[in-house]
Amino acid sequence: MKTKYVIGVDIGTTSAKSVLYAKDGTVIANHGIEYPLYSPTPETAEQNPAEIFSAVLNTVKRTMQVSNVDPNDILCVSFSSAMHSVIAVDEEGNPLTECITWADNRSSDWAEKIKTEMNGHEIYLRTGTPIHPMAPLAKLVWLRNEYSELFSKTYKFISIKEYIFYKLFGKYVIDYSIASSNGLFNIYTLSWDEEALKVAGVTPDQLSEPVPTTYQLTGLDENYAKEMNLLPSTPFVVGAGDGVLSNLGVDAIEPGVVAVTIGTSGAIRAVSDKPITDPKGRIFCYALTENHWVIGGPVNNGGMIFRWARDQLGEVEAAAAKRLGKDPYDVLTEIADRVTPGADGLLFHPYLAGERAPLWDSNARGSFFGLGMHHKKEHMIRAVLEGVIFNLYTVLLALEELIGEPKKIHATGGFARSELWRQMMADIFNQDVYIPESFESSCLGAAILGLYSLGEVESLNVVSDMVGATFHHTPNSEHVAIYEDLTPIYISVSRQLQQEYESIAAFQKKWV
Ligand code: ADP
Repeated sequence: MKTKYVIGVDIGTTSAKSVLYAKDGTVIANHGIEYPLYSPTPETAEQNPAEIFSAVLNTVKRTMQVSNVDPNDILCVSFSSAMHSVIAVDEEGNPLTECITWADNRSSDWAEKIKTEMNGHEIYLRTGTPIHPMAPLAKLVWLRNEYSELFSKTYKFISIKEYIFYKLFGKYVIDYSIASSNGLFNIYTLSWDEEALKVAGVTPDQLSEPVPTTYQLTGLDENYAKEMNLLPSTPFVVGAGDGVLSNLGVDAIEPGVVAVTIGTSGAIRAVSDKPITDPKGRIFCYALTENHWVIGGPVNNGGMIFRWARDQLGEVEAAAAKRLGKDPYDVLTEIADRVTPGADGLLFHPYLAGERAPLWDSNARGSFFGLGMHHKKEHMIRAVLEGVIFNLYTVLLALEELIGEPKKIHATGGFARSELWRQMMADIFNQDVYIPESFESSCLGAAILGLYSLGEVESLNVVSDMVGATFHHTPNSEHVAIYEDLTPIYISVSRQLQQEYESIAAFQKKWV
């Protein structure tokens, strides 16, 4: 039988990527196109919708060219995209704003007001999206109050994925996944949440029509089809958000499997068969399908903290590494490895960039705690690596309160290049850690969801035949004992500093 193919497209924050797979998950071709993130002020993080649209068209086109596959053999194109974006459009679908991304912080005062004065916690409990400036709910309240003229001129408020589909198919649809991450959608009834819409000041007709993530769009614009070298009859599957599809793409959808990513930032996610929200508000709940809900927490302070340590503490070592043709991160992890687990009683709280989960406090700041005369630079480097893992462990503890203890961890991201850091995760989490083969996991997740939508595969679990593991770490009991002693101190210090985080952040805003 002739091989059939599927294309997974991921509209990320830095680039659009597409990967063309054979039906069994083999990668045939891929291509990525970057676009800028505009930050004219420190609080602003916007992108240009037209630049993203053009990147999406061209990445598919280039992938088709490289693969040399007959367009007749493409079963579908299926989509992943960054969550939480907002674009205001007019009646013709022209953007009235840039694409305001998840990283944009301008609505932070309004997010606080929603929390304290507008019943925010109750809204979170129904929508699954933590009340935070990343969330479109907060962005709409901000736009309505601070740009009222623009707000009243807006025909619809959409996300980047809806913008792309409107251009390609002339239809406004929003998948349950992107909807479940905008703070306006009731995840229990799968419909817009009346109270959230009231707080935002919008009506359902100002939003797109919610559809399942397996929804297929047909009738692709002929010119765009030609440009991408696809048939106008090729179905497009609406797909889901990038985080939840990445869980699928790293084979972490079975109960008890927890996906941990540490790239520049980080995240912990697990799948439940029904929506769950956290009475303490620490955890998100986003849809993958109606029967797969991804719950977890995003952290700001992932690998960027090691990069900071490399640049600020390890400058000399990094320069020497470069001269020897070695990776500075490898040299620094070797140095950290000279010290025993627990860094002889030195703890590091990695909140240099404020923190989302588990604290949800943009005023949180970092600290070394427990410094003694016996501590050297290598202790500090080890404490930094451990601090990043301790922080993620506190998110895991919150997750455990909702879904129980994990059976195993699937870990991905740049951190996984370090054996020491991987073992540290196994020891601090006291869990088996597997490193799955991971290449554009959100594209793979989108492709599998597309195949599932077409009935080409029976269930999403086919992923386990497509993704193998590269490394496996088991907890070392001596290390586990040390970390079990330190974890309560780590948590208690951060809790006790809650007030002081606010004071020091206020000082920094005033004087730095
Ligand atoms: P992104 O999230 O931007 O895609 P990556 O997944 O590539 O980024 O992760 C980048 C981070 O990975 C770096 O900030 C660094 O902390 C970490 N990293 C990269 N290389 C190594 C290494 N050899 N050893 C340990 N950590 C590394």
